[in-house]
Amino acid sequence: MKNSTKPFLNHPLLQTLQTKCKTLPSLHQTHTQLITTGLIHHTYPLTQLLSSTLTTSLSYTLTIFHHTPNPTTFTFNTLISSILTHHPHHTHLAFTIYNKLLSTNSINPNSFTYPSLFKACGSNFKHGLALHTHVIKFLEPYEYNDHFINASLISFYSKCGKFSVCKYLFSLVSQPDLGLWNSMLSAYKHETEPGFSINRPMEVLFLFSDMIKESKVKPNEVSFVALINACADLGAFSQGVWAHCYVVKNNLKVNRFVATALVDLYVNCGYLEFARQVFDELRKKDVFCYNAMIRGFATHGYGYKALDLFEEMVLDGLAPDDVTMVVIMCACSHVGLVDKGREFFYSMKVKYGIEPKVEHYGCLVDLLGRAGRANEAMEVVHTMPMKPNTVLWRSLLGAARTHGNLDIAEVALDQLVELEPETSGNYVLLSNVYAHLKKWEGVKRVRRLMKDHGVDKTPGTSILEIDGVYHEFLTADKTHPRSQEVYLKIDEMNRKLSEYGHKPRTMEVLFDLEDEDGEDALSYHSERLAIAFALMVSESGSPIRIIKNLRVCVDCHDYTKLVSMIYKREIIVRDRNRFHCFRDGVCSCLDYW
Ligand code: ZN
Ligand code: ZN
Repeated sequence: MKNSTKPFLNHPLLQTLQTKCKTLPSLHQTHTQLITTGLIHHTYPLTQLLSSTLTTSLSYTLTIFHHTPNPTTFTFNTLISSILTHHPHHTHLAFTIYNKLLSTNSINPNSFTYPSLFKACGSNFKHGLALHTHVIKFLEPYEYNDHFINASLISFYSKCGKFSVCKYLFSLVSQPDLGLWNSMLSAYKHETEPGFSINRPMEVLFLFSDMIKESKVKPNEVSFVALINACADLGAFSQGVWAHCYVVKNNLKVNRFVATALVDLYVNCGYLEFARQVFDELRKKDVFCYNAMIRGFATHGYGYKALDLFEEMVLDGLAPDDVTMVVIMCACSHVGLVDKGREFFYSMKVKYGIEPKVEHYGCLVDLLGRAGRANEAMEVVHTMPMKPNTVLWRSLLGAARTHGNLDIAEVALDQLVELEPETSGNYVLLSNVYAHLKKWEGVKRVRRLMKDHGVDKTPGTSILEIDGVYHEFLTADKTHPRSQEVYLKIDEMNRKLSEYGHKPRTMEVLFDLEDEDGEDALSYHSERLAIAFALMVSESGSPIRIIKNLRVCVDCHDYTKLVSMIYKREIIVRDRNRFHCFRDGVCSCLDYW
């Protein structure tokens, strides 16, 4: 086999191959001519023949390939990438050919072998990881430090949500292009790590500003989707609005992906009207946009509007997917339409062909729990076909807590401690349940469990943004430069609130997160410090947005409702579980979270 390629580039037979051979008989004819002219013995014409036959007959391609006496690495690479381009579902075939390459003694894979194979791995972490070890094993360092190899690795790890690995690989690239920046920006969205961490979306914001400042690369729609998603997760309204303006000013398209991200952003920041505007202006809506908007209505407590929009979506000819079912059941839950919600659950398979997942069972449990039917909810948990997850146990716990069913609370908490051994809040809750029941053995057991797992109590943290600057407060924190004023403000707020008859509900809070030291510490839960600070420094009447790392406790929830009424402020708190929009003394979660 000869490796020279150039002399054949403009050969008339190869041009015929590329432009005219669309049927099997014409391919046969050209194939014969390649044999009679001897061109078939050269790598370039051979690979051209292989690629051309691929679109017409895969088995024909493979027959030629298997009869090739000494295929080169170039032939293997071309075949692998052409198979994956023209037959993306035949990944197993591509890997079989890769295996054949490995078992051919005379040749080795090179840096062009891997990019298409990584693409074929999709988000299959195991396969990709194995392939990565091959890269290190079979390539020389100068080969695997190649831009294309790094790009495909970053893109692969991004799809698997391995943000830290991506970051490391990204640091090795000297001048990342747009594709690489985008893989990096989108990596955190796929992150499978449980629980909400503020750090990740923050990192996306920093990364984006690096991209704008340090590189010559101009962000495109994909970059903005990643940025807006991060802003939505953070509830970072001003950055989100900046991103929206940038998209519009720079003639980028508000396509359905950008629009969906914007709807999520405005919903999360408590601006339902803005979300609706973006949604209405989008011409071609898909199921993702509808889901985002329906979720918006549901989480803001407009269950009936959510149901109307669902009807609209079906009339629009779009088939609901499993996320639609989650948001629509959540909408029913919010307005207490228990039977309607159950109807959705039981019809999803028959009517829409969607197999209920653990999330849907979670919604059903939530629906029944909110309606005070905790026993029925427990029944669902016992009979469901899969293992209940933490979300589900947490909503069962919510039901048990609100309706004072301590037996169920105990069961749910026991499960939560088992499933999330590193989350301190669960232990504190469980210990408090036992204390409430005067089951001191239980309290001791929980303390022991905590020690065994080496769990420390997570301190409560609240973050808020004022004019683009982030302020962080811990429980009873005195480190903020204006701390003295904050505490004076809290005293003033407490006086006003007690005029409205607010009494701290320490007994119930005992049953809740964070608090072990009674009424005093309660006044200084991190979100209260943050609210006090916001009332001091922000424009009167402007909404207050806070992100909290733990679940909001019962007392702070009551407190915030009253503050929203007395101070005439909208207060949006993103806690560990959900968003709360406090307005005129009412919260969008309708006291169930
Ligand atoms: Zn609290
Ligand atoms: Zn709430």
